Amino acid sequence: MKAGLAFGIALAMAAPFAVQGQDSMGMTKGTLENLGEDTYGWRVGTARSLIVVGEDGVLYVDPISPRVAKDGLAAVRTITDKPIKYVVYSHQHWDHILGAKVFKDEGATIVSHVACLKHFYRHPHPDLVLPDMTIESGDTLSLGNRDVQMLYFGPNHGDCLVVPWIKHLGMPFVVDLVTPGFIGIGLMPDYDPGEWVRSLKEIERLPFEQFIAGHATAISPKSVLAERRMFLEDIMAIVKREHDAGTPMDEVAAKIDLPQYKHLAGYGTSFPDFVKRLYTYYNIGW
Ligand SMILES: [Zn+2]
Repeated sequence: MKAGLAFGIALAMAAPFAVQGQDSMGMTKGTLENLGEDTYGWRVGTARSLIVVGEDGVLYVDPISPRVAKDGLAAVRTITDKPIKYVVYSHQHWDHILGAKVFKDEGATIVSHVACLKHFYRHPHPDLVLPDMTIESGDTLSLGNRDVQMLYFGPNHGDCLVVPWIKHLGMPFVVDLVTPGFIGIGLMPDYDPGEWVRSLKEIERLPFEQFIAGHATAISPKSVLAERRMFLEDIMAIVKREHDAGTPMDEVAAKIDLPQYKHLAGYGTSFPDFVKRLYTYYNIGW
């Protein structure tokens, strides 16, 4: 992979460079982001894989897709020759986890939370590699001098999402529960809204000042996570109020006025889908 330097990414507390890979057509394959000591992001589009390098090998969270994983492995090889020890699935959604085969072929152990297994059996995919090892909350994957602890907060975005805690940075890698700069995912088919808020509150109680996100901006202050939680609480309160008052579902989105969140992408346009999900939540209890 050809590597060049780019200085366009502003990351608080992170090293100020990114290496960009390009294919033969000059298209950007992805960006290797330096996120702190022995810690990197491999970003393609808005999706990010997390890379932690230790004495014993590499931990790689979310292979994304076969193509992104292949380029991600090449990106890792610009950093270290150490073996890929673990590939962790943050949760069961295909947009984060396809592509592990390229790492498995190198001898990596594929890891997910135990609660993901039922989804993998129920919804197989030709590019999905089943985990070799399952974890439960609090399990730590060691790379010798670096440890990454798998925190689990129960159902929220699906029911098997883990939040890797990068011990030496004191930072969590938070996938899909918050997307910095964005209002969120509209229809949220398997988000549990109430459990999502609860999980964010529990994550907020962890001792960190910044977190790494699975999409968009790499490193954000804790306040961004809190803002997502407050937005959810505010929009849920409005939908509940209108639901309980008997307002037809189709009329609720027009009643939402939360100017404090207008800077977030998707403000307004994502509300109809949000409302459908939340109205259902208050109508049937899920
Ligand atoms: Zn997801």
